[in-house]
Amino acid sequence: MKKITLIFSIIFLVGCSGQSENIDSQSIDKNETFNWRLVTSWPKNYPGLGMAPERIADLVEEMSDGQMKITVYGAEEQVPAFGVFDAVSSGSHQMGHSGGYFWKGKVPAAQFFTSVPFGLTADEINAWVNRGGGLELWREIYAPFNIYPIPAGNTGTQMFGWFNKEINSLEDVKGLKMRIPGIGGEVLKEAGGIPVTLPGGELFTALQTGVIDATEWVGPYNDLTFGFHQAAKYYYYPGWHEPGPMLELLINIDAWNSLPNHLQVIIETATKAVNQDMLDEYLAKNNQALTELVEVHGVELRRLPDDVIEEFREISNKILDDLAKEDETIAKVYESYLNFKNNVSAYHEISEDAFVESRNK
Ligand code: CA
Repeated sequence: MKKITLIFSIIFLVGCSGQSENIDSQSIDKNETFNWRLVTSWPKNYPGLGMAPERIADLVEEMSDGQMKITVYGAEEQVPAFGVFDAVSSGSHQMGHSGGYFWKGKVPAAQFFTSVPFGLTADEINAWVNRGGGLELWREIYAPFNIYPIPAGNTGTQMFGWFNKEINSLEDVKGLKMRIPGIGGEVLKEAGGIPVTLPGGELFTALQTGVIDATEWVGPYNDLTFGFHQAAKYYYYPGWHEPGPMLELLINIDAWNSLPNHLQVIIETATKAVNQDMLDEYLAKNNQALTELVEVHGVELRRLPDDVIEEFREISNKILDDLAKEDETIAKVYESYLNFKNNVSAYHEISEDAFVESRNK
């Protein structure tokens, strides 16, 4: 009997250090305490984005009565902003908080689980991921990287971003060096622009010093905190490139498997609560910040001309179709995504869209 206990203990210890793929659930001590590290792509305590992982950590500690403690690190504190996926994949850190479209070079299909141009809004992507088959696909494509993803926040529809010249036609984006990640960046490239991907913390200086000509970030609530209005004159909408980006909690699968079931349930539940809470925070704060940007700081709010939006939409659809032709995984994810989008759009047309149109007239 002693021998068996010892064997189980060894299996468990190996599991904790991230070297074992399968841990016998019998070996898990339900009372074991856990101290985990969570790395993010955001500045420490950054409003919205950076606070979501802090809230997950607080909730998990409280719900587990202190059995699990998670320490949250801002970008660059332990790993670079875009090193989060690798850190969790390798097991150097048990958890990460980021956005899937940053990993497009490694996992192209991951972009669908953040946002794709002219894609799903926040409510819609929640429904697709949680109730429409999206989450199963997401977990399937992250599994080879030893990562278990959980939806972990949404900013709602973003702004197209900050510019120092007016955009009156696609000619105006030719040669424009703009920070815009994901497939949105591919669309800009196809339209003649030069997309770059930079972490949020570097954007203000890059814009102010002319390293980039324009940038998108999130929306008024976050953009105000970075002070983009001091470096650019025009604030363009709508954010066709990011209609409802979903963020992700990344968990190393070996670490995940080492947890007793009740802690897994606590993490899933806390993260689900924060996924909604972050969206609520943005919705509550965005208009207040927009009013300050326009009325106090004199920012010029501009809507992209309809024909420019239409051209961006045509390019987007072509890029998505082409990606699906080149990559089997994207084809599978895109089919599920597109079916869901077509269905939900048809219903929203006669429900939310029709109502909002009637309310705002
Ligand atoms: Ca953005």
